[in-house]
Amino acid sequence: MDRRDVMGLLGKLEPGNRSTGQALHRPLLVLWAIGQAVRGMPRLQRWSDVSAAVGPLIARYGGGSNYREAALHPFWALRGNDLWEVEGAEELSLTSEGRRPRLSSLDSLNPLAGLPEPVYERLVKDPELAPWAVGTLLLRFFTPAPAGLLEDLGLTGLMAGREATALRPLMGETFPDRRAIADTYGGNRVRGITPLGDGILTVFSDEKGPYADGRIPETNWIAYTGDGLSGDQQLVGGNKSMAVYQEQQRALRYWHRPYGGEWAFETWAVIVQRWLRWGTGEDGRKRKEYVWVLAPVLSPLRETWPSAVLQALAEDDGRLHDETLHATLAAGVDSGNLQLDNRERYRRLAKAARVREESRTRRSSLTTVERFLRSTTAREAVLLRSDGRCENPTCLGHPLERTDADAPLLEVDHVKDLARGGPDIPESMIALCPNCHALKTRGRGRRELQQVLLAEALRRHKEFLR
Ligand SMILES: [Zn+2]
Repeated sequence: MDRRDVMGLLGKLEPGNRSTGQALHRPLLVLWAIGQAVRGMPRLQRWSDVSAAVGPLIARYGGGSNYREAALHPFWALRGNDLWEVEGAEELSLTSEGRRPRLSSLDSLNPLAGLPEPVYERLVKDPELAPWAVGTLLLRFFTPAPAGLLEDLGLTGLMAGREATALRPLMGETFPDRRAIADTYGGNRVRGITPLGDGILTVFSDEKGPYADGRIPETNWIAYTGDGLSGDQQLVGGNKSMAVYQEQQRALRYWHRPYGGEWAFETWAVIVQRWLRWGTGEDGRKRKEYVWVLAPVLSPLRETWPSAVLQALAEDDGRLHDETLHATLAAGVDSGNLQLDNRERYRRLAKAARVREESRTRRSSLTTVERFLRSTTAREAVLLRSDGRCENPTCLGHPLERTDADAPLLEVDHVKDLARGGPDIPESMIALCPNCHALKTRGRGRRELQQVLLAEALRRHKEFLR
């Protein structure tokens, strides 16, 4: 048994779900047993001793009540995780459902129990493994760690200052391919959103892959496209795991492979927003896709996160920012009526842009992200209104040259600078040829021109809606 095997067993531990919240009986028993191992205590100990030590821990930290009853559950159930063995288990008499031994039977036989020998040996012999294992379990089940927990587990000495640094992989570790990562740290070799063997969620972003993930301009945040290559993405699988991490505000690992480079564990990150937008699937068709906005953090421990991240977490209530609603309404996608004339399409786009503008959250730290991810609704409307020609009434002549995509040379611009609060709606935006765009932004007469353009945008808007 090697490190990866031990971490793999720990990674499969899950909390029990009770009506009162998460039940952490099993993680607590494992943590206690690791504490025993690193302090040289015997691997196997009597039920009476284990229950006397672990019962109070569960009552205090694990959501249990009655001491001995609480200890009985993990003492029996943890065997199913291959992390525990009970000597003479077959001699115990079980309750009528047969799912656990009777308390009286345990008390009278008082069996020896403990970690399986290979796990215990590995923990004792490998000085890096125990802190790694403890750090991982604390992160997964006890974040933030309740005061007194490490002391009560006898793990203070082992973990002093190492709760984050004991974890593996370390930030910056690189591997040539996904197989090599899985060989070292376990986990799936293919999926984009999947835990490593230790059970901590990990996302992989490949620059060569089908998705254009990337840094959001003017921030160091990352827009990460969800799971699902073609067809509308659903909140299942990897996307479901992401939603859980977002709700619980837990840190995940972000791995990245630059074009032609190696995979690197680039950073820990927390999910600060979830979007649904229109995108293009691997099959080339339009589909709805999730975009998870990830904020890099230096460690998974919340107390190390920068205030901008904490503020974003506080401001975003975990809701879905659904851009597809507006875009659907606007473009007539899914409406079954693709024969809309330009006037009607403009009307719908303008309305949708207005709706989304009104629903736009105005909170500062997320504004840049919203600007990046917002729908192209208003822009689309303006292009439609322009009919491919510069909208400046004093234009000296629109160039005939077209782009590679056979589109007219047009810049859609906010007449008032968006950064200074100009709204994202067509009546305050205008399509300009490159020359007029330059005059509007850099020309000496730009202030007068902006007044002209603002009036023109409004006039054309009304004209189109008439
Ligand atoms: Zn022009």
